[in-house]
Amino acid sequence: MKIFVLNCGSSSIKYQLVENDSKKVLAKGVLERIGMAGSFLKHYSVYDYAVELKKPAHNHTEGIQLILKALVDNKIGVIKNLSEISAFGHRVVHGGEAFREAIIITKNVIDDIKKCIPMAPLHNPANLAGIEACMGLMPNVPHIAVFDTAFHQTMPAKAYLYGLPYELYIKYGLRKYGFHGISHQYVADMAAKYLGRNLSDLRLVTCHLGNGASVAAVKGGESIDTSMGFTPLEGLVMGTRCGEVDPAIIPFIMDREDMTGKQVYQYLNNKAGVLGISGLSSDFRDLEKAAECGDERAQLAMDIFSYRVKKYIGAYAVAMGGVDAVIFTAGLGENSPVIRKNICSGLEFLGAHLDTEKNNLRGEIREIGSYGDAVKLLVIPTNEEMVIAEETARLCANVVTL
Ligand code: AMP
Repeated sequence: MKIFVLNCGSSSIKYQLVENDSKKVLAKGVLERIGMAGSFLKHYSVYDYAVELKKPAHNHTEGIQLILKALVDNKIGVIKNLSEISAFGHRVVHGGEAFREAIIITKNVIDDIKKCIPMAPLHNPANLAGIEACMGLMPNVPHIAVFDTAFHQTMPAKAYLYGLPYELYIKYGLRKYGFHGISHQYVADMAAKYLGRNLSDLRLVTCHLGNGASVAAVKGGESIDTSMGFTPLEGLVMGTRCGEVDPAIIPFIMDREDMTGKQVYQYLNNKAGVLGISGLSSDFRDLEKAAECGDERAQLAMDIFSYRVKKYIGAYAVAMGGVDAVIFTAGLGENSPVIRKNICSGLEFLGAHLDTEKNNLRGEIREIGSYGDAVKLLVIPTNEEMVIAEETARLCANVVTL
């Protein structure tokens, strides 16, 4: 069964065509600069073709048309006909409380995703633009929405409610939702498989450390707490996002820097985090290089980042009454021995000892702790597209058997 997986941003579309039975990626790519001058498509196929096509895409519909054309192209295509695609799996960032799991998209589902726009004003409109474009172009195949928030819907009220008047939760749904759920769920499943244990018996701290970053406490396969909140701004210090700060700082900045609330929100999303601290870059590769050359603020940014992750690991170990494994994933978690070392130093009292040699190795899923440790330290490459493809296939199977 071939499934087309999409992750639509406001000006970009990332995609994969997945053969779900064999778990093979037939083609993948990214279309960038939608609605701007110079839009281009980078397309890779299973036959090792990599092409960059400079073609205008004024909107998501034109963008998806370009991608579908590439899939069936005589030279670079991987299928003969679009009818070979059995279903579309769409990543949706915010599903609010309405969606506890993936769902087949109907008009009502679209209306409910629209209701979540105030909570994800940057992401949900772009996700919807992709859904509507695909449904317009391919109306006769099932379209499935897979939510970043759904995995965290198992959090108890004591974890998801803020210390705010309860009416605000009732009136506006003001609560912690958490994000990166597709990734946290995937690496938790993979950790159980790797360790040869039942997920239902495990207490895991999953650290998704990329440009956006979050930690989750996964107990018995369910998320019981996570660091991101009402929006992806809460929690860890990230590439450009501040993570948790004293809320009193917001009116202070508005007053002293003469900004509106909206401007401060953008400032805390785009100019803060390790970029703001270092004054140099949001990319840890740049920070690591600069720190090696003696840049103190780059080093400080990395220290603040690692310290915050370490605090969450400690907090979640306590919240779960212990921890069996700490898992690192995403761009930084998978690729930076330096950051993993910073985070893991001090976890020895928990029973987790980083093995420096194993930490420096590259590769697929691997253990980086010392042999025989009570608490395992694992690096597990995330694969959100595969989760979306699997969820899409699962729901399509239900359609057939109904
Ligand atoms: P993601 O958002 O998961 O794609 O992660 C992207 C981020 O991962 C980049 O901005 C870098 O900060 C970080 N990253 C990726 N590769 C490396 C690497 N080899 N060393 C250090 N950081 C990396």
